[in-house]
Amino acid sequence: IVSVNGLVKSFGAHRVLNGVSFDVRRGEVVVVLGPSGSGKSTMLRCVNFLETFEDGTITVNGAPVGYQSDSAGRRRMLDEKVVAKNREHVGMVFQSFNLFPHRTVLQNVMMGPVSVQHRDRTEARKHALELLEKVGLTDKADQYPARLSGGQQQRVAIARALAMRPAVMLFDEATSALDPELVGEVLRVMRELANEGMTMIVVTHEMGFAREVADRVIFMDGGVIMEHGAPHDIMANPQTERFRSFLGMDR
Ligand code: ATP
Ligand code: MG
Repeated sequence: IVSVNGLVKSFGAHRVLNGVSFDVRRGEVVVVLGPSGSGKSTMLRCVNFLETFEDGTITVNGAPVGYQSDSAGRRRMLDEKVVAKNREHVGMVFQSFNLFPHRTVLQNVMMGPVSVQHRDRTEARKHALELLEKVGLTDKADQYPARLSGGQQQRVAIARALAMRPAVMLFDEATSALDPELVGEVLRVMRELANEGMTMIVVTHEMGFAREVADRVIFMDGGVIMEHGAPHDIMANPQTERFRSFLGMDR
């Protein structure tokens, strides 16, 4: 459902992604591990076309992300409207929650479907309430985000992303900004989503989540995929020195 092929991305002279390729099948959970600066966030941002990229192709749900080749084989950026439309297939949750402070929890979750997708208000409201129930926040529907804990805000952010009915969800260190006691409630929601068959690409430092929830784990370093495989396989038996040391298995 997601296909990344030979992805190359630079910031100025600094090449941050140097030919990254992988596929994600429907219902799969792929966890991306790697040290700081290895290009994990940049890769996710390319999948959602929050970043342009110089080479390679990405498709989501069969639709090309960002660029398309014309009849002469030249690479051309897609029309803004097509980019926006394709982006609706992809839900993204960031480290910071980015909720709208002057809207209630319910309004935050309804806003995308109503104003971007022009869905019926009553139907959007019903769906939003279902999603709030799923993330365990029915009783907070009429609160403003500032009154919620970080873990609750992040669960609202997850509900808000799901409200667009995405084909794939991207998580970029969704629990990294949370106090340790709030990490569990967010991981629980992510785990439930995975169990329900949501397709997910998850950048995280939570090794337990990687081990227990991932169908496949990707280890990135220096803008390339160094290792790629089933978690019980590659995490128990890393092939490269860098992954060994990342996992704290030195000596
Ligand atoms: P972390 O674990 O710290 O989040 P990461 O693997 O997500 O790291 P990226 O954020 O993708 O890494 O960054 C990869 C490299 O790209 C880093 O060297 C970073 O400094 C650089 N970089 C990222 N965004 C930009 C930007 N907007 N402009 C210039 N350089 C950038
Ligand atoms: Mg990052």
